[in-house]
Amino acid sequence: MPHSARMFSQRENKSRTQTNRVAVVTGSTKGIGFAIARRLAQEGAHVVISSRKQQNVDQAVAMLKEEGLSVTGTMCHVGKAKDREHLVATALEHSGGVDFLVCVAGVNPLVGSTLGSSEQIWDKILEVNVKAPAMLLSQLLPHMENRRGSSVVLVSSMVAYLPIPALGVYNTSKTALLGLCKSLAVELAPKGIRVNCIVPGIINTDFSQVVSIKVQQCQGCGLCSAFPRTGEPEECAGIVSFLCSSDASFITGENIVVAGFSPKL
Ligand code: NAP
Repeated sequence: MPHSARMFSQRENKSRTQTNRVAVVTGSTKGIGFAIARRLAQEGAHVVISSRKQQNVDQAVAMLKEEGLSVTGTMCHVGKAKDREHLVATALEHSGGVDFLVCVAGVNPLVGSTLGSSEQIWDKILEVNVKAPAMLLSQLLPHMENRRGSSVVLVSSMVAYLPIPALGVYNTSKTALLGLCKSLAVELAPKGIRVNCIVPGIINTDFSQVVSIKVQQCQGCGLCSAFPRTGEPEECAGIVSFLCSSDASFITGENIVVAGFSPKL
């Protein structure tokens, strides 16, 4: 475990502001999703961990339970309707409702040109990265709308603003998420549900290894942090924690860059 992760695992449970809340976090057995799950659980929420591989789910759940946190887990490939149904059912087992949905799961199966990408690549990336969060939310909606202060957080990427050559379809999917965030925010505001999006830069996870190499190849594209380092998953978790909290009660439809620099005006 890296030093920063150890440090955050020892975070004192000082402000358990999310007690009696239930959070579903997709893609949460490692990396950014795991850090978000841990943070929400440290704040007192019951967190439902999920990812494609049961073994990874079991490991993540065991690790967080060892830290005294309230978590359950289930296998869920977000692109599969049956898995999503099972995830919803597992989440409802705790207290019959869900307060927070954080859609972290995302894929990039191809490094190659946009126009050279096959239809299968387009379908897979758009299905997992864009369609799945909307489908999962539609399944959870009846169980979120009667809770006070429900919140949804999507996970886009800086490539939405500053596309990396050779990741064209992935760039496009992450730009689509910014639009999905805006649409859902206005659609769900009457139901009292806020929808926001975090936009990470290069965060130190297994996933970013491929992206980092691509960034090194396109110097000056602006994706690099203004600080001489990449980000840590826990730095994404902090902003998700804020977006789920009552301190963010008047914030919806916002895309927040967590990248060591923001190109947005
Ligand atoms: P990571 O460390 O590789 O973790 C990915 C997690 O998602 C794992 O728990 C993995 O577990 C799960 N997963 C993968 N495909 C899934 C699917 N189809 N359904 C459900 N779970 C799935 O990656 P990460 O860096 O934390 O990335 C997480 C998200 O952040 C992605 O959406 C990515 O696009 C975004 N992001 C990352 C960076 C970065 O620099 N790291 C920057 C911007 C945006 P299993 O293998 O068991 O499924």
